Amino acid sequence: MNLQETFEVGLKFHGHKCPAMPLGIRAGMAALKVLGVERSQDKELFVRAETGKGHAACCFLDGVMTATGCTYGKSNIEKLYYNKMAFTMIDVKGGVRYEFP
Ligand SMILES: [Zn+2]
Repeated sequence: MNLQETFEVGLKFHGHKCPAMPLGIRAGMAALKVLGVERSQDKELFVRAETGKGHAACCFLDGVMTATGCTYGKSNIEKLYYNKMAFTMIDVKGGVRYEFP
C-alpha cells in the first residue's frame, strides 16, 4: 500500500481524524523502509511499542499497526506502557531492528 492507501485504511480502522495516527503511519512506513522489509503478513515483524494509555500515544499506535501489519490479533506487537510515542520494530527473520525515534 502507498501512503494515501495506508492512511485511508488507518482512518477507517482508527475511527477519527487526528494528528497522531498519521504520524504512526509515517513512522511505521519509515521503519519498513529502513529495514528493507514489507508489511507483516504473518509474524515476520515484531513491534515493541513504548506507548501507554494516553490518548495521543494510543492513536499513534493505531497508525504503527496499520503501516507495519503488527497487530494484537497476530500477537506480533506488545505495549510496554512507558507513555512515550516510540517503538522498536524487529525483523524477526533478519535479526535487525529499527528504533523510533
Ligand atoms: Zn486518534
